Amino acid sequence: MNVAGSGSTERALRAALTLAIEYIHQRELNPVGAPASVEELRRRLLMPLPLESSDPVAVLHELARSVDGGLARSTGGRFFGWVIGGVTPASLAADWMTGVWDQNAGMYEVSPAAAVVEEACGKWLIELLGLPKESSFALVTGCQMAHVTCLAAARNSLLSREGWDVERDGLYAAPRLRVISSSQRHGSIERALRILGMGSGSVTDIDVGDDGVLSGAALEAALEDNRNAPRNVPTIVLLQAGDLNTGYFDDFDELIPIARKHGAWVHVDGAFGMWAATSKEHSHWVSGIGKADSWATDGHKWLNVPYDCGYAFVRDRTAHYASLGHKASYLIHSKEARDPIDWTPEYSRRARGFATYAAIASLGREGIGNIVDSCCEHARTLVDAIGALPGVSILQRPTINQGLLRFLDRRPGAAEAEHDAMTDAVTKHIVASGEAFFACTTWHGMRAMRISVSDWNTTSEKVARVVTAVETALRDVAKNNFR
Ligand SMILES: *Cc1c(COP(=O)(O)O)cnc(C)c1O
Repeated sequence: MNVAGSGSTERALRAALTLAIEYIHQRELNPVGAPASVEELRRRLLMPLPLESSDPVAVLHELARSVDGGLARSTGGRFFGWVIGGVTPASLAADWMTGVWDQNAGMYEVSPAAAVVEEACGKWLIELLGLPKESSFALVTGCQMAHVTCLAAARNSLLSREGWDVERDGLYAAPRLRVISSSQRHGSIERALRILGMGSGSVTDIDVGDDGVLSGAALEAALEDNRNAPRNVPTIVLLQAGDLNTGYFDDFDELIPIARKHGAWVHVDGAFGMWAATSKEHSHWVSGIGKADSWATDGHKWLNVPYDCGYAFVRDRTAHYASLGHKASYLIHSKEARDPIDWTPEYSRRARGFATYAAIASLGREGIGNIVDSCCEHARTLVDAIGALPGVSILQRPTINQGLLRFLDRRPGAAEAEHDAMTDAVTKHIVASGEAFFACTTWHGMRAMRISVSDWNTTSEKVARVVTAVETALRDVAKNNFR
């Protein structure tokens, strides 16, 4: 069977377009969560290795049938589990074109347009997010790899100040580095430190109060605590823009000068929260953020670019280049242009700049700010409306787009463990209804249903539909005398 030739490509793309439009139209009618079981998905997908070729269109139809019920409809506006953005029309279409163009975006010489598009994205993002103009940047797979990129630069800079060339000599006999962070940090930080050879043990956690905010006094005390070291230990201070449970921000205006006074490198985890910078109403949260040394954020969360897409920014471009720059005799290194390979941990890589470029070009600063504002408003409405139902307690009213609710066991004298069980049971029931998707977390020892709104596609009508679904779930669980 012949799979070559532009005829089959055209037929495959037309089939994809039809299937895609069908999927989008049916999103409203189908469950938001994925109802198919792992057994069912394995039965459909773990087939014997195909020995002969098949028609691409037939393969595509078969694939679409096989994954049915196994996809989260996270782009339909009623998915509130985790911070998972949707896709805007321009960025989705540009992402399709990225596949068609199939550029290797590692080097300018391989794809001049991909390299220059990334340059444009970097400049736009730096301006949008209010970062120093001179910052270097990298388009990576997500905030996780943005942390790796930024912290590699931090490691280079801090150790070179100690007279240590970590790129040549590694960490075997290097001075110790430490990381000071609030205990509420995201797990991706720890993984970045593991990859970079600093180890999760290099982190000193500072306990934060119920509000999740790191106090200046606590940071100062941790920085001054050099008990086991003869002199100042090279230090990275990790700050947060948008706590994953509460949406809280560290106070950059207060904390960054304290860290700087101690010569620390300040890295900001702003996976979604940094986008508050684009909103008039919420930009006060990121005041002073530009004084940090590096910043990590995502395109696939609040900017609503398709997966995968993250961004790293580093004030000291020399440290960034020194930690990742690469030369090889068989490559053509550009003298005038920017080679993405010098700024990212990847070699061959997807030209993910096209989707970001299209997202920013189509939305503009105002459109991005509007997505942020409407998500925050919908998050507040969801929390307030569900929180007003009987037996619901609001643990965290959104400061931006994250909130926490707890479903109470209403029998007199019910214990915390029973409220925990009720919270899990009601959440499970809502997901099973197919009307919305939420996930639970443990926050200050209590089970809580997390509400994250980051899809541009969420509307007031969808929010009202979800509140009704939660009301029904609460009634069903009470009626069936859960326990
Ligand atoms: C999602 C998230 C990350 C990890 O980002 P990925 O894009 O999944 O790699 C890191 N920090 C915070 C606060 C996040 O919300």
